Amino acid sequence: MFVRTYGAASRGVDVLPVSVELRSGRGIQFHVAGMSGSLARDAFLRIRGALQAGGWAWPREALTVSLSPGHASLHPEDLDLPLALVVLAQIGAIPPTTLPHLCSVGSLGLDGSLRGHPTGAHAALAAAEAGCRATLVPAEVLPASSGSGPDAPVYGARNLREVVDHLTGARPLPRWVHRAQAASAEPEVPLNRLHGDEHHLRGVLLAAAGEHHVLMLGSPGTGKSLSARALHGILPALDRAESQTLRRLHAAKGLIRPDPWEPPLRSPHAGSGVAALIGSRAGGRHQVDGGAAFLPGELSLAHRGLLILDELPEWSRPAMETLRIPLERGVVDLARAAGSIQLPARCLVAATANPCPCGYFMDAERRCRCTPAQVRNYLKRLSGPLIDRFPIHLETRVAPAPVNPEQWEWPTEAAAARALVQRVRQADRSNVPWTEAAESCLRQGMRRWRLSGRAQTSLRQVAETHALCLERHHVDEEDAAIALQYRVFDRAGWLESAWSAERPKHRG
Ligand SMILES: [Zn+2]
Repeated sequence: MFVRTYGAASRGVDVLPVSVELRSGRGIQFHVAGMSGSLARDAFLRIRGALQAGGWAWPREALTVSLSPGHASLHPEDLDLPLALVVLAQIGAIPPTTLPHLCSVGSLGLDGSLRGHPTGAHAALAAAEAGCRATLVPAEVLPASSGSGPDAPVYGARNLREVVDHLTGARPLPRWVHRAQAASAEPEVPLNRLHGDEHHLRGVLLAAAGEHHVLMLGSPGTGKSLSARALHGILPALDRAESQTLRRLHAAKGLIRPDPWEPPLRSPHAGSGVAALIGSRAGGRHQVDGGAAFLPGELSLAHRGLLILDELPEWSRPAMETLRIPLERGVVDLARAAGSIQLPARCLVAATANPCPCGYFMDAERRCRCTPAQVRNYLKRLSGPLIDRFPIHLETRVAPAPVNPEQWEWPTEAAAARALVQRVRQADRSNVPWTEAAESCLRQGMRRWRLSGRAQTSLRQVAETHALCLERHHVDEEDAAIALQYRVFDRAGWLESAWSAERPKHRG
């Protein structure tokens, strides 16, 4: 007898189909070509146990199973289910005709339960590649599923019995339905609870609308983290393609996203190293033929969402420097580590920093105990090229002047803010003209504050974002002036002027 079905293998962030073919003959052996001896032995024990638990007897023939491509999966246990299905077809428990167009994944427990690594949720992608008409995955990974086309349903099962009942038609499983795009939920930190003045609130809106990374400097308790979380609350929902990419990135790391449409929010702790940020080569049993696999880092896990880097000066220098290229290009390049892979990492970054080791430099109410040299050395940890990558700088204050809603024309409710952000992100930026007054304002600012060439590029982008927020399709002097106001920490003389001020100086 000959039976064929499909499983799926994960490699890096890709999922590929694996054909599983069984041929029976005389004898008693169980042999799997394309899987190492010890893995095949373990699989045999699990599958035989699961069959026994369900009341099915192991066949009295020699079974040879061939996996193609062989040795392909990062999670070989996920091939238990297709292996069990060809054996069940061999003993007549399921009709063999159901199998050639089915792609299934899941590892079996000795009690017949079906489990799975989150990458299994993307088996539908492998199914599509193999031309399968249906996908079967463990029910527990279903929420992370990439979904499927209208003609290729995805089913979730909790155990082998449910799979068999489905395939025999005794009790068909319901097909999984992609959750409709959620209406914008109320954010965790509403915009109108933000601790900040108009300059601050507008900075947060500009950051979200223009995808400008933001650096917040202020004493502890001045609402830096609150601002970052409010920023997350006004990011627009993901579209289908973004959502799928993100689910695959999360699955490669073994994570399931409960709400597939919500932009991710990641906030690794300051001790995290380079590998945690940009990703790493998967080691140990993740080693597969044909090259190493990769585990995505925080920059990729926050793709199309927000990455909060708290207390940036506390991060190691290599970790800080490794941020520079991904912040600019939106991808992480792991080419030099091993093999060659680029992972998407287009996230918005909100970094926070205390202004000095004790935290109270620039604070109007509490006294800073640090010497000028200590403050300077602390802030020097943020290198010029790194600060360059943050187009929006915000100083947070103990008691900011609250926004007066009567005179404030920008949105203060999350839904309106998200609509603004969405509109500006979709606007055509290819040709936004600058008035002569705007150009001259920018030139003066660049000269006066001795800003770098890269700063000029980001200043232009922020000014354009500001113009687009106000529904203007050209940049005026006002837009350029406001963009310059958000460029604080790399101004020549900024530290000296902050130091000499008795109270925090307002930007001018
Ligand atoms: Zn201090």
